Amino acid sequence: MTAMERAYCDPGFRGLICVSFGKADSLTADYYNGGQRRHVIHFDDANTETLSHLRSTIELACVGVRLVLIGPLVDIQAAAAVAAECGLVEEEVTLVGDRSDHLRVFCAHCRAVTRTVEPIGSEFECQGCTTVLSISNHFSRRIAAYLGFSAHAEEAA
Ligand SMILES: [Zn+2]
Repeated sequence: MTAMERAYCDPGFRGLICVSFGKADSLTADYYNGGQRRHVIHFDDANTETLSHLRSTIELACVGVRLVLIGPLVDIQAAAAVAAECGLVEEEVTLVGDRSDHLRVFCAHCRAVTRTVEPIGSEFECQGCTTVLSISNHFSRRIAAYLGFSAHAEEAA
């Protein structure tokens, strides 16, 4: 059975649609094991084909469906965009970043690259110079890392 064949849920489905990407299978199993009705879908990654199936699934489901997206940020953000296009509002979509999906953060002060599980916008200590960095949402493709700036620059200056 392919992921494609599993991608659709019953028309009028009302409950939780759990979508995982990449190697997040185990996460899906752990997540939301309460009594709520749920439909679980797994895709290897977010591409044109899988996203169009996701769109069909959301369109078949009832108003009031909830969506949980699990996996690498790049995939779940693409899926969240599709959900928004289908009319799901922010409160109906939960993004669960893959816990093994570390960010690479480039320190603007000592130029060291530190891996962290902290999300964008949070603060952490640079391994190179121990400056407390704030992780910006500016991603440098050249160094394949997010840029980190001193979180307390004003006070230090
Ligand atoms: Zn540093």
